[in-house]
Amino acid sequence: MLFAIDDKEKEIFNKVSTAAAELGYPCYVVGGYVRDRIINRPCQDLDIVCVGDGIKLANHFAQQLQPAPRVVIYRRFGTAMLRYKKIEIEFVGARKESYRYHSRKPIVENGTLEDDQFRRDFTINALAISLNKEDFGEIIDPFNGLMHLSEKIIKTPLEPGKTFSDDPLRMMRAIRFSAQLDFDIGENTLYAISKFKNRINIVSKERVTTELQKIIDSPIPSVGFHHLKDTGLLEIIFPEMQALLGVDIRNGISHKDNFYHTLEVLDNVARKSTNHWLRWAAILHDIAKPPTKRFNRKAGWTFHGHDALGAVMVPKIFKRMRLPLDHKMKYVQKLVRLHLRPISLTKETITDSALRRLIFDAGEELDDLMALCEADITSKNPNRVQRYLDNYKLVRRRLEEIEEKDRLRNWEPPISGEIIMKTFDIKPSRDVGTIKLAIREAILDGVIPNKYDAAFQLMLEEGKKLGLRPIQSTS
Ligand code: ATP
Repeated sequence: MLFAIDDKEKEIFNKVSTAAAELGYPCYVVGGYVRDRIINRPCQDLDIVCVGDGIKLANHFAQQLQPAPRVVIYRRFGTAMLRYKKIEIEFVGARKESYRYHSRKPIVENGTLEDDQFRRDFTINALAISLNKEDFGEIIDPFNGLMHLSEKIIKTPLEPGKTFSDDPLRMMRAIRFSAQLDFDIGENTLYAISKFKNRINIVSKERVTTELQKIIDSPIPSVGFHHLKDTGLLEIIFPEMQALLGVDIRNGISHKDNFYHTLEVLDNVARKSTNHWLRWAAILHDIAKPPTKRFNRKAGWTFHGHDALGAVMVPKIFKRMRLPLDHKMKYVQKLVRLHLRPISLTKETITDSALRRLIFDAGEELDDLMALCEADITSKNPNRVQRYLDNYKLVRRRLEEIEEKDRLRNWEPPISGEIIMKTFDIKPSRDVGTIKLAIREAILDGVIPNKYDAAFQLMLEEGKKLGLRPIQSTS
């Protein structure tokens, strides 16, 4: 079958073909690019395999372009990369791989196109397009990848047990592709993942996390998480999330299954936003429910403090998963810590000061926090969902009104520690903190307006209570 080459590709494919022919190398487009083009998925990276020296081919190809692009060479991997018309093109020599038991790093030898296709992880990733004169544009599909693309199924080219045992990262990749593409995973392939799940332990945490992040970024992330749970991988790579699974019943009272609830919240968030870290907040918002779960005769099941304990768990999970421990972690932690607060604000009797406090505590993250809370409504009763959403609408409106009036987001009280020290001629001390706190609380409680003069006056009063005197008379 011939591949439908578009205009932009025609120029590149022809030039690569000529350069390869001049060097006497058979040459092909392979892998993800072919897959994505056939299913009309946007693709950027073009992988070229030649039966020969990939670095030489890259240099030779680059010389034919005006202006010649810079060729980045990775000698250790025998690959070379260049960028042309916004497409990243990578060149590599065809290779044959064999594996040892304790490592996912293969012994690599030069090989044929067939060897190279054999080492690929899935049939849909093993497709190649010939760039050779005799069959230019022909799709070479030794494992029925085209059929599997149309059937929307992920299968390994070889016996799946061998594929996964050789390189267990492929188990994560299978699940990741199924989530990204919304494909099923073949029965034998899925069974082999369950069977070889423990082999994931020989893969570095960073690589596992990279795949997990791609699952999280996919259009319906729960697709991937269901597979992770069903195959037993979740228990190994993310035991805290696995612990959310299950329902306890006591005295005929049950609680909701927090694993499925979390996945619903995650999908809800994913429908509204591509923010990766907001998706993490959805995954982690109830993560401390298992360790805080108690049964109380009167109240039934409770999870008191799961918001605070969840926030404590976030950095530990991030650290183990080699996720960044910077402002992104802090963002997730903040949303987990605050995720119950907006619910408590839905009562009509709530005062402005409670709302003001939330604006102050959530700061920049207020909108995302509200989005998380709205996604957290997973009731099956549409009337109830509507009622909760209406409640949040009301909260949002009141928050906006207060925000408009007080401008509390990213707020710094109008009187700084510097001013306090200068006014009373004191050094940094507990008194400075006490006065600052009193001013902050008074503004948040609405006792004084968020204005310099009022805050200055209060500072003088608070100073007086502490036995401090201003060094010069002030109005
Ligand atoms: P994406 O760009 O979305 O990650 P991709 O399929 O291009 O998808 P890459 O990781 O860039 O994925 O890999 C390019 C190709 O290399 C794949 O299509 C596949 O043929 C092959 N490949 C990558 N990783 C492996 C692996 N662990 N085992 C076998 N083949 C692999």
